[in-house]
Amino acid sequence: MKAINPTSGELIRTYEAHSEKGAEKIINSVDKAWQSWRSVPFRNRSALMLNMASLLRSERDRLALLITLEMGKVLRESKAEIEKCAWVCEYYAENAESFLQNEPISTEFKQSYISFQPLGTILAVMPWNFPFWQVFRFAAPTLMAGNTVVLKHASNVPGCALAIEELFREAGFPDNAFRSLLIDGKKVESLIAHPAIKAVTLTGSTPAGRSVASAAGRWLKKSVLELGGSDPYLILEDANLDEAARICAASRLLNAGQSCIAAKRFIVIESIFDEFSRRFTARMKEAVYGDPCHEETTLGPMARRELRDELHDQVIASVKQGAVILTGGMIPDQTGAFYSPTILSKVKPGMPAYQEELFGPVAALISARNEKQAVEIANDTSFGLGAAVFTRDVERGRWLAEEKLQAGSCFVNDMVKSDPRLPFGGINESGFGRELSVFGIREFVNIKTVAIR
Ligand code: NAP
Repeated sequence: MKAINPTSGELIRTYEAHSEKGAEKIINSVDKAWQSWRSVPFRNRSALMLNMASLLRSERDRLALLITLEMGKVLRESKAEIEKCAWVCEYYAENAESFLQNEPISTEFKQSYISFQPLGTILAVMPWNFPFWQVFRFAAPTLMAGNTVVLKHASNVPGCALAIEELFREAGFPDNAFRSLLIDGKKVESLIAHPAIKAVTLTGSTPAGRSVASAAGRWLKKSVLELGGSDPYLILEDANLDEAARICAASRLLNAGQSCIAAKRFIVIESIFDEFSRRFTARMKEAVYGDPCHEETTLGPMARRELRDELHDQVIASVKQGAVILTGGMIPDQTGAFYSPTILSKVKPGMPAYQEELFGPVAALISARNEKQAVEIANDTSFGLGAAVFTRDVERGRWLAEEKLQAGSCFVNDMVKSDPRLPFGGINESGFGRELSVFGIREFVNIKTVAIR
């Protein structure tokens, strides 16, 4: 397995992938670890999770650099990612026990209640875009619930995968409570089939989700899927346009546009379309791209050259169908997987920029006659991860967010964000199940009924 620096195109290091036999041995050892981990009291699990939070903070700069070298994220954002991982560890260290308290139910039985029991070893198939955060937001609640974890990370971040495994050891977790497998995505089905794997979670693209969901179905394993998105941001005629333009550009460009919950389609009411476009274009043009380790850089390269080339193909195909480039639309003449911040206007149904996920720094501007049409366009997607609405009328925004927009998370006057306290996940082709909050920790437990006569 090769880790390649997307900024320079240079090989960082080659890693030996696990053989099928080697992977099986590791899964068996993680399953063995579960036999004792399941009965470790909450207070001991919490203490280890707090150790992990401190370790992440003390090792922040080293880990952040590893992220930046392997997938190109701006170093400042990599540091923030490590801080967020520490937060989710603390959050579940503090709350897991109360989230999984027995719940008495009043019946004719002498005693009846719900008990939340761990399931066993859970397989996590994870993406490279937030190579620490995606893993920790799953692993912290899952381990706190008494499960053990096998991670199959994306093939372009093997250094991150092994560093996370090592961190769990250093924090004092039992040796095999968390293990990483260096293995190709195509071999995931054989992992799901392993009898010790009790459930699987995948964060990644919709095609990978289909493949994992069908394997999970075949082997009758529970699955949680966090897939792609094409989040619509509605800019209504009474929005604060300066604020909306600033937040929309920030959401589109974060992580070089490679976030599942990045703003991707901007649906703007006709009467303010030109004004919003002008302010939004100015904000997008402020991005400074270059070496992600430099202090002044705000936009790093994309994670891999072929992903950048696929994004450019989507732009070109949309332009051929009538979209207009307001800025960008070019592969810069420099080494590395860079793409210029791009805005496409006059985006219409049928174009890739309208129908597909744009996983990079490209914004699709769509004009709507009125609020009703804006909502129809927002919901005219196979995805349903996040959505946002910008308006000075907070009650109007709340009503649209709650009642009208079809997505797992709907924000008013802010970008869609993940937060340990708030459930996170999608509907439709954005997947199913939830991470974070009380809902995340209850995904991989046996919700057991106990009734005593
Ligand atoms: P990806 O190609 O689907 O890869 C994600 C993971 O799935 C990797 O570990 C990959 O392994 C594995 N994989 C790929 N094909 C597979 C298959 N057929 N069966 C089993 N596993 C397979 O996605 P990506 O390009 O890394 O990430 C970008 C996508 O993830 C975007 O669509 C983004 O929106 C989505 N995403 C969603 C969320 C969310 O929370 N909803 C969060 C982040 C990202 P290999 O690397 O070995 O191929």
